[in-house]
Amino acid sequence: GLRLVPKADGKQTLKDFKSDQEVRWCPGCGDYAILAAVQSFLPELGIRRENIVFVSGIGCSSRFPYYMNTYGIHSIHGRAPAIATGLAASRPDLSVWVVTGDGDALSIGGNHLIHALRRNINLKILLFNNRIYGLTKGQYSPTSEIGKITKSTPMGSVDRPFNPISLAIGAEASFVARTIDSDRKHLQSVLRAAAEHRGTALVEIYQNCPIFNDNAFDRLKEPGTRDDITLRLEHGEPIVSATKAVRRAANGSLEVVDRASVPEEEILVHDVRNPDPSVAFALSRLDEPA
Ligand code: SF4
Ligand code: MG
Repeated sequence: GLRLVPKADGKQTLKDFKSDQEVRWCPGCGDYAILAAVQSFLPELGIRRENIVFVSGIGCSSRFPYYMNTYGIHSIHGRAPAIATGLAASRPDLSVWVVTGDGDALSIGGNHLIHALRRNINLKILLFNNRIYGLTKGQYSPTSEIGKITKSTPMGSVDRPFNPISLAIGAEASFVARTIDSDRKHLQSVLRAAAEHRGTALVEIYQNCPIFNDNAFDRLKEPGTRDDITLRLEHGEPIVSATKAVRRAANGSLEVVDRASVPEEEILVHDVRNPDPSVAFALSRLDEPA
């Protein structure tokens, strides 16, 4: 099997994280941009590739570990969070990442996901949300909008979609974020914040599927559609705590600041009551000691 050998000089670059496998997503798939963002951001963490593991389930996104020159497991449908939990619990020295999709994480693996979130083991879960089942050719998924016409819902789907952010907050996740494949800078700033977080981080990444759900996130390309929206919980309580908030620093990264020191409009978030929130957001559970 694969055995990764530490580089003699210890210096890693983007190239060190690319495997020799041919990348086989459809042309134009948003997964390419996410893969490139992850591969180019990982060297800055300074974690040796032999101490990094990507665990996936089943779906288009779950091909991800093949393309990373790290350790990886292409596991069972929906079960990546469970396998990654075992790995991270027994090997706290490893950096453990889960790559999953909206079907894998929220339908087949919904139960594993919420328990991974509440256990708060040191895992980073990247949920590629294209709001469709891509690998099995375009059935509606748990995040497809009401009325979605697909081969499995020819009259339009009648189910309300999950909002993965609300779900994660409801499961008491300690870090919740949303970002999008087409905004590399934001995507990498969120990945950075997730990597720095101790505990389970859920990062939802809106991902375009040009074959079965093209342009689902197009309106988010408009300037200003993802900024300056206040994150609030269901009952109108701000998700930011009384004393802490998260905002985007001048260099684009996210920072936790004293709430009193930032104007309300600079606090990063979105309204989780909106079933199709436009905001990319991230924040730590701020009531826990660091
Ligand atoms: Fe990407 Fe969609 Fe093709 Fe899957 S079916 S590889 S999500 S474009
Ligand atoms: Mg999907």
